[in-house]
This record gives sequence, structure tokens and C-alpha cells, in this order.
Amino acid sequence: MTIATTSTTSTTSTTSTTDTTTGEPELKTFESLNPATGDVVGIHPIDDEATVREAVRRARADAGWWDELGFGGRKEVLGKWRGVLARRLAELAAVVHDETGKPHADAQLEIGLAIDHLAWAAGHAGKVLGPTKSFAGLLMANQSASVEYRPLGVIGVIGPWNYPVFTPMGSIGYALAAGNTVVFKPSELTPGVGEWLAASLREVVPDRALFQVVTGLGETGAALCTAGVNKLAFTGSTDTGKKVMAACAQTLTPVIIEAGGKDALLVDADADIDAAAEAAAWGAFSNAGQTCIGVERVYVHAQVHDEFVAALVAKATSVHPGGGADASYGPATMPKQLDVIRGHIDDALASGGRALIGGAGAVGERFVQPTVLVDVPEDSPANTDETFGPTVTVKKVASMDEAVRLANATRYGLGSTVFSKANGRSIARQLRSGMTAVNDVISFAAIPALPFGGVGDSGFGRIHGADGLKEFTYAHSIASRRMKPVLLLTTFNRTAKQDTTFAQMILALHGRASTMSLPATGLGKLRRKR
Ligand code: NDP
Repeated sequence: MTIATTSTTSTTSTTSTTDTTTGEPELKTFESLNPATGDVVGIHPIDDEATVREAVRRARADAGWWDELGFGGRKEVLGKWRGVLARRLAELAAVVHDETGKPHADAQLEIGLAIDHLAWAAGHAGKVLGPTKSFAGLLMANQSASVEYRPLGVIGVIGPWNYPVFTPMGSIGYALAAGNTVVFKPSELTPGVGEWLAASLREVVPDRALFQVVTGLGETGAALCTAGVNKLAFTGSTDTGKKVMAACAQTLTPVIIEAGGKDALLVDADADIDAAAEAAAWGAFSNAGQTCIGVERVYVHAQVHDEFVAALVAKATSVHPGGGADASYGPATMPKQLDVIRGHIDDALASGGRALIGGAGAVGERFVQPTVLVDVPEDSPANTDETFGPTVTVKKVASMDEAVRLANATRYGLGSTVFSKANGRSIARQLRSGMTAVNDVISFAAIPALPFGGVGDSGFGRIHGADGLKEFTYAHSIASRRMKPVLLLTTFNRTAKQDTTFAQMILALHGRASTMSLPATGLGKLRRKR
């Protein structure tokens, strides 16, 4: 006989069953809820440390097989998986919709992009990671030099709930394509999505532990950090990222941290104002503002400020949250975030800001109305901290230099956006962020060849692109002697004459560098002063 005890929080409810004969706990579970309705959409195990370790052990047992399959064999398997995902896209989108509350079409969008990334990763892994020859240099001309990128083994992935397919697949797909096996801990808010993804790959490879999912709360994620994985790819908040890094430090497990942001959109005087306002609206409000690369701040040139603000407010007026098919975006997936959003709006208004739409009262029990704030001080939390809600601040600037300075004055550095007809790329290059979209928004995330990641409190390491493949490997350099060297340097039998010849060679190869003219900065300046 078992007795069940239940405890409920605002987001999840956990249940433990106890065997009354032995008194031993049997199974701990938690519920996944639909944030739009509060309905229970699934019950999942809370995997403990032993279960997580066992998953990692199984993953390691099959890592060699997966590696030996080679780039071609892995491309074939991942291609089949891609087909399953594409054919059953609507089914997965329904699971995403149920667990996050986001509109079905938005769920479809993130899944479609994830499939495209998977295709790129599997298709390019051989070229990016396979052996490539390098010139060995004049001193080592007798050597043949090459480098190849070898899989690390087992990769642990910890993911968030806001894009429960697209975001973790940026690690999972690239890690698998690079030849690793994967153990994934999805957010406690979206465990069903994680389980669906793993089950779909098992349809292609039923008897190998290529990609397993462990479910549970934060403790399960913490257990994955110390379960013996060869690298941990974390996506989530900056604060949890620090905990993950500290846990991984115990075992010297390397980490990738994809954390939050406070992305800015810059609008120059020559920008297409309607396009910029459309981009700002989508970047700020889509997915209920729960986008790490969402637009949270806008800096607009004074010449076009009023026109831009009017266009943005007009767009915001036509955007509506809800749970139905006609909704522009869904509820706040994580109820406790509602307090943060409310706090940022209230603080902005109390410190002199004005809401042109939304504002005080925009935050409901589950849904948040779109909010455009102006005149908000730069040191207000609405401008300094990640809001993760459908709100945006807009500030008038005298020049693009000022816009760049304010955009860069953040502890984060994830994405950014520039609207300018003449100077888009040059403004983009001045921004301190991992990615910038010019005359578009969030476009970089959908281009598989481009690395994705941030600087500062937005984390480090890269997913996507060639960098994203290399992130899950180690470089193996091989120097192979082709012939006897003219000058044998690495021997105790080296003669004084050989040392002299070596010194002459170095002088011939590099000596002229010091006599070359230097620019009027740095060393050149110093030398002239002397
Ligand atoms: P959290 O940091 O709360 O959680 C992220 C993941 O970490 C979840 O799976 C969570 O599990 C797990 N976790 C919690 N505590 C621990 C712990 N001590 N050790 C190990 N794992 C733990 O982030 P959210 O899920 O709320 O996601 C939103 C955040 O993610 C935002 O800041 C957003 O900007 C960022 N993000 C960044 C992206 C990027 O690419 N840079 C992309 C998408 C989101 P559980 O849910 O069970 O608590």
C-alpha cells in the first residue's frame, strides 16, 4: 500500500508516495501545469542523484559507439530524427503550447528553426570538426601539422522554459552532431517537451542512450552538474548560472553559460520608422516578452523620436495577450515573474516615467498587457535588470554615439538591434553584445551558421555555427615528422653551431619587425618621446 503526500507551489506541485510496509519513499513526482489555465498537463518523476548518475553512466557506455559512427553515420541518424520532428511538428507544438501557454504558431516557429539548426549541425560537423592540415612554419618545415576536433564524451544540458525546444536544441543538436551523447534536464515548467524530444530520437535509435532526459526541480539540475558529464551547457538566469558554475567547479567540469539579457534597439534618424517600430513591438512583446534576446530598451534619434513612438504605440494597441487561437502572445509562463514585471513598471512610474500604453495595472493574474514606457531614468530597474515581460522603455537621444553609449552601459551583453539605412553595420560594430541584427530583429538566432551567446552577465561560450560545434569538442593537434629536419632542435645532442644557426634564423625571420615603422600610437609614440 502506498500513501501520497502533496505540496503545491505557484508553479508546480510535488507528490511523494510512501510504501507503508517498508516505510521507504517510493517515487517523488511533480506536476506540469498549463500556465494559461492552471490545469495539470503531466506528471513527471523527480529524478534523484542516483538516477541522474545512472543516466550519465548509460550515456557514457554508448558514447564510443556514437563517436565511431563518424560524421556520415551521425548525419544519417540525425537526418532521420529531423524527419520525425518535421512530420510530427504539430504534435510537439501542442505540448509546447500546453506547458508554456504560447500560441501554437509561435511554438511551431521555434520548432521549425530548431529543425533547421539540427540540419546545419549534422551537415557541417564533418567539415568544421574533421582533420584539417596547417602549414607547420619555416622552423618546423619538416613536419606535417593537422588538427581535428574530438567529442568530449557526455554533455549535460540544462534548459529554460521560455523556448523549451529551440534553446536547448542549440546545445543538444550541436553536441550530438559533434559526436557526444547527451543527458538533458529540462525546466520543471516544461518537462513534457523534454521527454517528447528524447522519445522522438528513441524512435530512430531505440536501443542506444544517445539522448536521455532527467526530470525534476533545481536539485536534479544540480545533480547533473556533478554527475560526471564532460561539459555542462546551461541556459537560464544569470543567478542560477553562477550556482551551476560553482557546482561544476568541484569536478573541474567546463561550462557554457547562456544567461539573460537587457537588449537594446537603436533607431537612427534615417531609419525606416515603420519597420523599426514593427521590430521593436515583436522584439518586446512576442512570447510575452519572455525572450532572452527580446528588446527591452529602445534608443531613438531625436529627429524621429516622436514618429517612432507613435508608430510603436499604434502597433502595441493591436497586440493582445490571451489563451485563445487569436492571441498575439500567451500568459507569463512562470507566475513568480509577474511580481518582477509589476515591480519594474511601478518603479519606472514612481521615478518619473510615463506609460504610453499599459503601465500600472497591466499585470494581471496570468497575462500582462503590452507596456511602452518613456522618461524612465537609466538607473531604474526597468532599464538595468532583465524584466522578461512584454514591456519596453523608449528614450530620445541626440546622436547615435549617445545611443551606443547608453546601449553598452549594461552588465549584460547578449543581443542588440540597429535600424539605420546608411550606418547600420558601423553602429552594430560598436555595440558590446554577442549578436546584432541590422534592420531586422532577432534574425541572427535563425541563421545556423552564426554563433549565439553573450558577454558579461549574459554568459560565455557559444552555441550554433562552427563555434557551437567546436564548443562540444576538444582540439587534438597532431604534428607528424615527414623528413629529417635541417636543424634538429629537440635533442640533447644539439651543438653550439646549431644554436648559432638557430639564432641567425630567428634574426632573419623576425629581426626586421623591430625596425619597421610603427603607428603614431602605442610603442611608436613612446619611442618618439624618448
Ligand atoms: P532559471 O535560471 O530559473 O532555470 C534554468 C534551468 O536551471 C532550469 O532547468 C532550472 O530547473 C535549472 N536549475 C535551477 N536551479 C538549479 C541549480 N541549483 N543547479 C542546476 N540547475 C538549476 O531560468 P529560467 O528557466 O527561469 O529561464 C529564464 C532565464 O533564461 C532568463 O534569464 C533568460 O534570459 C534566460 N535565457 C537565456 C537564453 C540564452 O540563450 N542566453 C535563452 C533563453 C533563456 P527548474 O526549472 O526545475 O528550477
